[in-house]
Amino acid sequence: MSRHGELDAIIVGAGAVGGALALALARDGFEVALVEAREPKPWRAEDDVDLRVVALARDARDLLDDLDVWTSIADARVGPYRHMRVWDALAPGELAFDAADRGEAALGWIVENKLVQHALWQALGGNTFGGSGGSRDASAGWLAKSIAAPAPPTKPRLLCPAEVAEIENGADAVVATLTDGTRLRAKLLIAAEGAESSLRTKLGIAFEGRDYRQRAVVAHVTTERSHENTAWQRFQPGGPLAFLPLADGRCSIVWSLPEAEAVRILALDDAAFRAELGCAFDFRLGAITASSRRAAFPLRLRLAEKYVVGRCILAGDAAHLVHPLAGQGMNLGFRDVRALRTILRDARERGCDIGAAHVLRRYERERRSENTLAARGFDMIERVFGSDAAPITVLRARALAMLDHVAPLKRFLAAAAAGR
Ligand SMILES: Cc1cc2nc3c(=O)[nH]c(=O)nc-3n(C[C@H](O)[C@H](O)[C@H](O)COP(=O)(O)OP(=O)(O)OC[C@H]3O[C@@H](n4cnc5c(N)ncnc54)[C@H](O)[C@@H]3O)c2cc1C
Repeated sequence: MSRHGELDAIIVGAGAVGGALALALARDGFEVALVEAREPKPWRAEDDVDLRVVALARDARDLLDDLDVWTSIADARVGPYRHMRVWDALAPGELAFDAADRGEAALGWIVENKLVQHALWQALGGNTFGGSGGSRDASAGWLAKSIAAPAPPTKPRLLCPAEVAEIENGADAVVATLTDGTRLRAKLLIAAEGAESSLRTKLGIAFEGRDYRQRAVVAHVTTERSHENTAWQRFQPGGPLAFLPLADGRCSIVWSLPEAEAVRILALDDAAFRAELGCAFDFRLGAITASSRRAAFPLRLRLAEKYVVGRCILAGDAAHLVHPLAGQGMNLGFRDVRALRTILRDARERGCDIGAAHVLRRYERERRSENTLAARGFDMIERVFGSDAAPITVLRARALAMLDHVAPLKRFLAAAAAGR
């Protein structure tokens, strides 16, 4: 820790985004404290696959690999997908992507959120099996890689369970007072507390967006035919339905539905649920022969109107909450991590204060524009494919056919989704 016990960064929220950021900055030699309200739930191989899974793009995987956590995630439980098929319930045409066309082994990987968070928490020195966090030397795992690094890795300070009660966002430093009275002083504070970020509110940052009035119903299902390592998505007027291939041969479904319809689907008995799901999916993989319990998540678009206030910034879902139809929320959050890491390293190399306004504005410029563009794009897709108005139906049939046949456009879409 630098003079007067000042940290470089306080990160609030140890979800995938906050956890990856804390690990990345500590690895780069920054002094970091990570404040988390709830100890992450343990991931255990003997437990069934958690209902919350994400499709991670290549650049997200590369970040986790660089942080030395990907191997443990992949060894635990990961479902790579090599193909993607997207089609529409109301119009002909299909959009197809194949990893082989890009010279890759996989287009992405299906991973449990809990496993990503668990792997990061463990690497940070946390203990998700009931002990007190923060006791292990988080630098140990990356010692070999760090030899050429400009600053030696540091050991992040984990504060959990803990929350920020007050922030003094001063000209020279930010001081966070935790609910137990602990005071942390740093050059910079990053709020990565997810969509309901209370720090975003404390900082007076408004957001724009809309409530989709939809819920994403999730479950794991067994299908009559193999999922063929393919991520499938069918657009229908109520919302898209995705089947994502799990490593154990089942599919994880994300079924976006108008709220009342989601409530009805959640209440169905298993046999009726499987019958309706099979029908909604065009029986593309045959009948649904088994299904897990179900859960549902409300869907909203929320875009923070700014990412920076003084020495405090937003990252991940705290800054941008998007519709899951493109499977990009966590991928965008990891891109925030990569951008911020590069910007802070550059600032340090140039001898700048890492919490200076011009440094943080660069992060905001780079990330807010990309995140907003992506979120607006997903929102437009939701509006176009969620409508059953006749002119729009014609338009989307043409759009799907065009996208599938115009090779450069298709390559661009595949690259954007893969994070290249
Ligand atoms: C149905 C569904 C499907 C999805 N599919 C995909 C997908 O395929 N691909 C993809 O990339 N994304 C997907 N997403 C989005 C993805 O899940 C999120 O973008 C991602 O989990 C956000 O991570 P985060 O770390 O920003 O926030 P969170 O995961 O919400 O983590 C926030 C952390 O902050 C902590 N916290 C909260 N408040 C406080 C506080 N006051 N003080 C301290 N700590 C606090 C929480 O306990 C938590 O640990 C999907 C989302 C949904 C709903």
